[in-house]
Amino acid sequence: MRDNHLHTYFSYDAEARFEDYLTIYEGEIVTTEHFDLSNPYLGGPRDDVPDYQAYTEQIACLNRQYGNRIKKGIEIGYYAPREADTLAYLEGKDFDLKLLSVHHNGSFDYLEDEVLSLDRNEHIVAYLQEIERAIERIPADVLAHFDYGFRRLSLTVDELREFEPNLRTLFQKMMDYHLAFELNSKSMYLYDNEPLYLYALSILQEMGCKRYSIGSDGHYQRHFRLQFDRIKQILDDYGIQEEWLV
Ligand SMILES: [Zn+2]
Ligand SMILES: [Zn+2]
Repeated sequence: MRDNHLHTYFSYDAEARFEDYLTIYEGEIVTTEHFDLSNPYLGGPRDDVPDYQAYTEQIACLNRQYGNRIKKGIEIGYYAPREADTLAYLEGKDFDLKLLSVHHNGSFDYLEDEVLSLDRNEHIVAYLQEIERAIERIPADVLAHFDYGFRRLSLTVDELREFEPNLRTLFQKMMDYHLAFELNSKSMYLYDNEPLYLYALSILQEMGCKRYSIGSDGHYQRHFRLQFDRIKQILDDYGIQEEWLV
């Protein structure tokens, strides 16, 4: 079970080195570096774009030292006004794994306090629709942290259930475009959203989803493969088979 969501210093908000992960784990790793255009977070707006050339060279070098254990990935933050620039960046580049995310609305990142002053219902509906649009426009392998837009809102399952029709529409879109659903252990265990994920899994199980991805969203060595034993148990509980994992 590979950790499919991981950052290094090639991401604007991380300083971890590949070796931090490679030296404490014997298997394969893939890093999914942030690509966020017009990113308002942490003193923005800025275009946060991984240096593809340097990233590719660094991984080729480490693959010689560490027995080809490193794959190339990206976490594409979708922002509709910059869609053409996003597609232009991806053109001709080779990634083993592409995560798709919606992190911000041009004014603030959804982890910032401003999200707390939005109309909750309007925001959640709009956020889920924005992810659908991202799926339609950007080729990717995994829908990352479906709950990112409301991570800060401490929703209960009953509160999220009000949006079940919207979630079902989103999940159907995700399945139609062959994206995997991510179990994001940072959302689940650092933002205490495990109940929301279990609720989502119950819907996905009923809908017949057979593509899943497990990711820690780690920015530090200590978050690598965060709670993966617990997640393995969840996969068993929900009948998710090993071969359904990307
Ligand atoms: Zn993200
Ligand atoms: Zn991430």
